[in-house]
Amino acid sequence: MIKFILIILLALIVIGLWRANRPGGTQKQTSRQPKDAPLALEMVRCRLCSLHLPAVEAVQGQKGVYCCTDHLHRAEP
Ligand SMILES: [Zn+2]
Repeated sequence: MIKFILIILLALIVIGLWRANRPGGTQKQTSRQPKDAPLALEMVRCRLCSLHLPAVEAVQGQKGVYCCTDHLHRAEP
């Protein structure tokens, strides 16, 4: 009877260790964060002078994006 209990306990320990060491799980969520970060700093190109700048600083025109309102008015009068 004691042998039977020991085998059950051993099986539970093995299953517990197997689950803890299984790849994936929490590691997948941490590797996702760096992928989303560059999206906020997406680079765009000015249609007039080809200057690269972050999308948040770009001026949106009807035909494209520009580095400043001056270039927007020059390209789209
Ligand atoms: Zn420009």
